[in-house]
Amino acid sequence: MRGSGGPLILVIEDEVDLVTLLTYNLEKENYRVVAAFEGDEGVMLAAEQHPDLILLDWMLPNRSGIDICRQLRRTDASRDIPIIMLTARGEEGDRIRGLNAGADDYVTKPFSINELLARMRAVLRRTAPASASEVLQMADIVMDLAAHRVRRGDRNIHLGPTEFRLLRHFMQYPGRVFSREQLLDTVWGHDVYVEPRTVDVHIRRLRKALNGETEQDVIRTVRSAGYALDATAA
Ligand code: CA
Repeated sequence: MRGSGGPLILVIEDEVDLVTLLTYNLEKENYRVVAAFEGDEGVMLAAEQHPDLILLDWMLPNRSGIDICRQLRRTDASRDIPIIMLTARGEEGDRIRGLNAGADDYVTKPFSINELLARMRAVLRRTAPASASEVLQMADIVMDLAAHRVRRGDRNIHLGPTEFRLLRHFMQYPGRVFSREQLLDTVWGHDVYVEPRTVDVHIRRLRKALNGETEQDVIRTVRSAGYALDATAA
């Protein structure tokens, strides 16, 4: 595994030059890349590392990509991993065979890296579950980042953009204390000059929106240190 942070892509491809090119370009886009030069090794790596997406070549030594695709789909550990097949064949019949074998999409060689990246993004979007990165939850507060909606219990909460970003930051690190300066850096950005007490104003608004009339205060003020979001704040 090289790089860090982005989705992990398993490339199963026997052409060394293409693997090098793909690795370079994918890592530039913040993907992590692991490569197998033949199918059985690919099947093993898929089970071991559970990548977010597999790029699978059709023409491999020993066993064909189609065969590998079927095996990946039959195996519990790799059943749910999206697969894009890479192939020199552009025939309609081959495309259908690939999709029937369980591939999610198909890119015909030679392809542009931008086309491949666009297909990858589309497949990842389509196959992503409502993941933790899109819905944040702490106690009775639920934040849907994609829909830009916040609920506390049965109540819809309306937040301004700054309060929304503040809450998202707190929800990503429940219980952790952030100083005003840290909040300014992450929520407002480095290049904007904002006075630290501006943070207090937005915290007050966020608190008012979240707590309503009677609910428990979830924002903890830490004297001379900053603020934290806590299920048990008082
Ligand atoms: Ca090949």
